[in-house]
Amino acid sequence: MNTKKVLEVVDLKKHFPIRGGLFGTVQAHVYAVDGVSFHLHKGETLALVGESGCGKSTVGKAVLRLFPLTSGQVTLDGTRIDDMAPGTLRPLRRKIQVVFQDPFSSLNPRMRVRDILAEPIRNFGLAKDSADLEKRVGDLMDKVRLPRDAVNRWPHEFSGGQRQRIGIARALAAEPEIIVCDEAVSALDVSVKAQIINLLQDLQNELGLAMLFISHDLAIVEHMTHRVAVMYLGKIVEVAEKRTLFGAPRHPYTEALLSAVPVPDPTVTRERIVLQGDVPSPIRPPSGCRFHTRCPYVMDRCKKEEPELRADASGHLAACHLHDLPDAENPLLNKPPPTAFAMA
Ligand code: SF4
Repeated sequence: MNTKKVLEVVDLKKHFPIRGGLFGTVQAHVYAVDGVSFHLHKGETLALVGESGCGKSTVGKAVLRLFPLTSGQVTLDGTRIDDMAPGTLRPLRRKIQVVFQDPFSSLNPRMRVRDILAEPIRNFGLAKDSADLEKRVGDLMDKVRLPRDAVNRWPHEFSGGQRQRIGIARALAAEPEIIVCDEAVSALDVSVKAQIINLLQDLQNELGLAMLFISHDLAIVEHMTHRVAVMYLGKIVEVAEKRTLFGAPRHPYTEALLSAVPVPDPTVTRERIVLQGDVPSPIRPPSGCRFHTRCPYVMDRCKKEEPELRADASGHLAACHLHDLPDAENPLLNKPPPTAFAMA
């Protein structure tokens, strides 16, 4: 693994104001992302997982600087971009590109594939001349395994999987170092999902890309990623290498998420942990540990004190007071490891 950090995020916050009344005054905030830190190495995939509404997509949009941040630092390839003016930021945008969930709505239906792929090449001044532009477009079609003559077609003439290949080619057109995949395979059929995941992995190996892979689907993440960061209600609660996290989760929320993933072997049963209640509102997050209203191991302390994200000796990060208990009394350390996962 290359140790160069291509992306570093420190204490990122994004609070959306809720306005109301006659004069549109701010009445409350949605604490969508509330102090998130992580980094991404060159050539690495970090999966950001959690239930819908946990803030993971907002983190993706924040690092892409699609809106102003409330606070925090985002460093892209050694340069701080969180406080950069749009004009200064523009050339740096080339380095970080995105593939969205819905390939149909993210492609302009009035542009042929050639123009969709040529647009970022022109915008970032990457082609020497029109012959070079045409060559780059053809090469992109090869990279995503679509026939070159399909550049003359319109987005609606392709299947969902093919459209997602075009979305990936468009992201690659800018020659980025990082790709943010925001639920990029969630809308696809199972067999197409597997093809797109294989394609993303091949491209990563070939081009040395770093990927921030945002997903609610742990079965896919297990196939796709090097490290996993688990989010709950605007905060990261656990970060570890994939095998470590899937084999021995150190946060009760991760444990519950893993228990819900289907096991491929029908003879194997696994205890399903059903969390009580809904995810609380990010407008009024619970005091102390934000997970305490649903945690099966909640203690008095959890309702008052917010746990810090702390590393164990192996570097496995978790934010949970259970790790202050003696090992023999910590329920998370005294369970059999979960079994392997099937792709959903
Ligand atoms: Fe559960 Fe307490 Fe750990 Fe939060 S700190 S996850 S409530 S045991």
